[in-house]
Amino acid sequence: MREIITRFAPSPTGHLHIGGLRTALFNYLYARAHQGKFFLRIEDTDLARNSIEATKAIIEAFKWVGIDYDGEVVYQSERFEIYQKYIQKLISEGKAYHCYMTKEELDTLRDTQKACGQTPRYDNRYRDFDGTPPAGIPPVVRIKAPLSGCIEFDDGVKGTIRVDAKELDDFIIARSDGTPTYNFVVSVDDALMGITDVIRGDDHLSNTPKQIIIYNALGFAKPNFYHIPMILNPQGHKLSKRDGAMGVMEYFEAGYLPEAILNFLVRLGWSHKDQEIFSMQEMLALFSPKALNSSPSSYNQEKFLWLNAHYIRQKSNDALQELLAKFHAPSLPTPQRDALYAALKERVQTLKDFAQNICEILQTPQNYEEKSLKSMQTETFENLQKFHDSLQNIPWEKQEDINQHLHHFAQNHDLKLGKLMAPLRIALLGKSGGIGLVEAMFVIGKAETQNRIQKFCNLGKTLTFS
Ligand code: GLU
Repeated sequence: MREIITRFAPSPTGHLHIGGLRTALFNYLYARAHQGKFFLRIEDTDLARNSIEATKAIIEAFKWVGIDYDGEVVYQSERFEIYQKYIQKLISEGKAYHCYMTKEELDTLRDTQKACGQTPRYDNRYRDFDGTPPAGIPPVVRIKAPLSGCIEFDDGVKGTIRVDAKELDDFIIARSDGTPTYNFVVSVDDALMGITDVIRGDDHLSNTPKQIIIYNALGFAKPNFYHIPMILNPQGHKLSKRDGAMGVMEYFEAGYLPEAILNFLVRLGWSHKDQEIFSMQEMLALFSPKALNSSPSSYNQEKFLWLNAHYIRQKSNDALQELLAKFHAPSLPTPQRDALYAALKERVQTLKDFAQNICEILQTPQNYEEKSLKSMQTETFENLQKFHDSLQNIPWEKQEDINQHLHHFAQNHDLKLGKLMAPLRIALLGKSGGIGLVEAMFVIGKAETQNRIQKFCNLGKTLTFS
């Protein structure tokens, strides 16, 4: 079996976004599933637009989600000599040539072509030039594109792609300052790195015929191509920040788990039956680029949160505690922690929410839900005060102690449980809703439970009732 060698080749001009990570994931899975190789190549030849921060952010994001690459990161900015060598090779073999057209000449050519209703294209005027070059004009280097026939390749997602040679001109492979162009460096690197399969966004589809011309000129075997459709928003438009899409590390800050991100992404453009949950092992076992979808996929925020909640529930409490510490969640003794985590695991969808809920529960409420306060009566506070006093001698070892006491108290005072619990919840947590009351009391402890009830009862003394 041939070795599968793939790569992810981001241009470090901004933070790694979710679409980029999906491309990386597909390439990673394909290589790893076949014991192949997966490389990371930073396409930083555009020195003006690159930033070291963006490169760092890409590497950091990879680390966070657990995508590892083989060998060292390849930086195109360190490979100019290699590109030079191949440009010279093509020139000396007569497959590329210097073109001395000035910008003004090119503009004039373009205008004339447009005026005649033609698509602007270079007119090959220096293709076979053997005269004396005009003085003082630093030339660009153009490759000799085929003059007839067509460029054809089988795309693993889009099917056969055929581009008429007439649609391509002798495009530039080195600028007048000697720097190689994008398509040239991609082709040289893919070939030299032995890349066998390229999975990338279909915004690159129009580059591929040019890259094939470069492969052919250099005598390199071309890789298999898979051009995947973009991720769209639910309205079918280009995904934006407003749709919830963020840079990968922003998902970390928003409290997403890497497992959820990878699982969410793998389903954007790839499927296996109607399965939705995929562990990394399953992805590795099941992923095949043959099952990549040719229609665009849609970013569904609800599904993303649903997956995140799923992976939060899967975590052990020890692991969760470690993760929540990054969100400044205070730590608790193990029995209280376990009770609180069990309650919250069923309610929250992000780690950030999880941590926020913990902080809220552990804080004595500073104010109380208005509408609940309005429904209180003198009697409500009297009952709460009695309940407060009744706690003095009861055990508080486990939740069942508290539960039993609540029931006994309600019974002994001829109160419906709800009549006791609803105001008690306001006293303890400040608002209706939230985790179970017994869990909350157990977690905050007896002293704090009494403290909160007393504080609430004191407030009651200042209120007037209708
Ligand atoms: N550097 C290109 C980008 O960030 C990707 C090139 C490729 O995958 O061939 O869009």
